[in-house]
Amino acid sequence: MSQMLTIALSKGRILEDTLPLLAAAGIEMLDDPEKSRKLIFTTSDPDVRILIVRATDVPTYVEQGAADLGVAGKDVLMEFGSQGLYEPLDLKIAKCKLMTAGPVGGAEPQGRLRVATKFVNVARRYYAEQGRQVEVIKLYGSMELAPLVGLADKIIDVVDTGNTLKANGLEPQELIATISSRLIVNKASMKMKHARLRALIDRLAAAVEQRNN
Ligand code: AMP
Repeated sequence: MSQMLTIALSKGRILEDTLPLLAAAGIEMLDDPEKSRKLIFTTSDPDVRILIVRATDVPTYVEQGAADLGVAGKDVLMEFGSQGLYEPLDLKIAKCKLMTAGPVGGAEPQGRLRVATKFVNVARRYYAEQGRQVEVIKLYGSMELAPLVGLADKIIDVVDTGNTLKANGLEPQELIATISSRLIVNKASMKMKHARLRALIDRLAAAVEQRNN
């Protein structure tokens, strides 16, 4: 009996870096999702399809079983929680750092620190562990703007080269976590489609190994 596998991916860096790993495991997309408005894609394997969803929605699709597996950044998993998922493989792609950042040479503000971020849960946990009282301000993008216009003292964001921070007069400060993308698997799928998923995970693990040697 053939068992359909549904994989949830997001456009951009994750897709770019995941496709070669999938190809090494024998799964190739037939259309270029970056150039298409479609959201469901067939692949060279008739029993594998790929869903294109927002990066922050990948864990939801996988946890709910709408996708059997997916690829999500550790930052997304830290923020949205991954208790209902298996996380069997570090794909070692889309690497970056989750950091605090603030104005270059800026003094620590007196009184309660105001931190702007889209990672509000990470921020609350991070400062709670340090016993620091902070006001966390939820933003959906362009976090770098917040300290420039007095909305916040610091931001928490993912940093790769640091160029975006630098261009806005900010500097990276404390490292919260090193980030890479993880393969995540629905718990029921892991039981029901075990042999199929195990084989795919093993082939992806071999592709990751090869890529990093
Ligand atoms: P940077 O290279 O530090 O200037 O990063 C450019 C922007 O890309 C940053 O503002 C980040 O929000 C974003 N970014 C960098 N690396 C990643 C990643 N691995 N995943 C998601 N977003 C990223």
